[in-house]
Amino acid sequence: MNCWTHDASTAVAACSFCGRGLCRACSQERPPYIVCGDRCAEGVLSVHSAAMLTHRKHVAGVTATFKFLFMISGFFFLCAVGVLIRVAMAVSSGDAWRIERDVPIAILLSGFATVAVVAGFIYRRTLRDRDQQQGEQASRGGRLTSA
Ligand SMILES: [Zn+2]
Ligand SMILES: [Zn+2]
Repeated sequence: MNCWTHDASTAVAACSFCGRGLCRACSQERPPYIVCGDRCAEGVLSVHSAAMLTHRKHVAGVTATFKFLFMISGFFFLCAVGVLIRVAMAVSSGDAWRIERDVPIAILLSGFATVAVVAGFIYRRTLRDRDQQQGEQASRGGRLTSA
């Protein structure tokens, strides 16, 4: 690709907004972007700030989901502890029917708690990986490595 303005010059970058080829003299740095002029700088920055706003909302949503999962797992965990205490009391008093009733409930509740915690961590890690990839793509900007 050659420069949009100077046909003879090889493009070293492409405008992040309009995509035109830019030679070294024509390219203007607006980190993390490279643009052809002030109009495209304005354009790319307004798109950038809109993207950042969406990103912040997205992060807030993820945090809320994670908190919710954490609260649910905490709730299940407390229930499991409560039932385990009852099981311990039943064992000490020797009521076999109580043990039979409460042990499966305790196992079930601790299972739910574990699943909720694990799901929360996997969910958060997946989203973090995706955000990192998007960040790397953005920081690469419009630079042409092979030109
Ligand atoms: Zn441009
Ligand atoms: Zn040029």
